[in-house]
Amino acid sequence: MRLDEANDRCPVCDPVTLESNVPGIYLAGVIVAGERTNEIFIENGRFHGKQIADDLKVKLTSAETALV
Ligand SMILES: Cc1cc2nc3c(=O)[nH]c(=O)nc-3n(C[C@H](O)[C@H](O)[C@H](O)COP(=O)(O)OP(=O)(O)OC[C@H]3O[C@@H](n4cnc5c(N)ncnc54)[C@H](O)[C@@H]3O)c2cc1C
Repeated sequence: MRLDEANDRCPVCDPVTLESNVPGIYLAGVIVAGERTNEIFIENGRFHGKQIADDLKVKLTSAETALV
């Protein structure tokens, strides 16, 4: 997994889906903000699970469709 050295060592990830640069590996919680540990709290980090689940749903649905 790649860290963005120019951006407080934030792990490289899609800001909408939170999928990292390693396909299938997602990030959630305070780690998303790299060294800016005062940026993500319970109150905003708790939405990460939904972002990830939404993306998995899209990917699994399209994989199922491809099998049919
Ligand atoms: C004193 C304090 C008060 C806070 N008060 C608030 C508040 O009032 N409201 C609010 O919204 N936020 C508050 N926060 C922030 C909040 O605690 C964090 O934003 C939140 O806990 C981040 O959740 P997380 O799951 O990303 O990380 P964490 O809760 O830190 O969970 C990470 C987990 O990973 C485990 N771990 C670490 N390394 C490894 C490893 N190598 N292998 C396996 N497990 C590992 C850790 O033991 C830990 O259980 C507070 C933080 C602190 C320190």
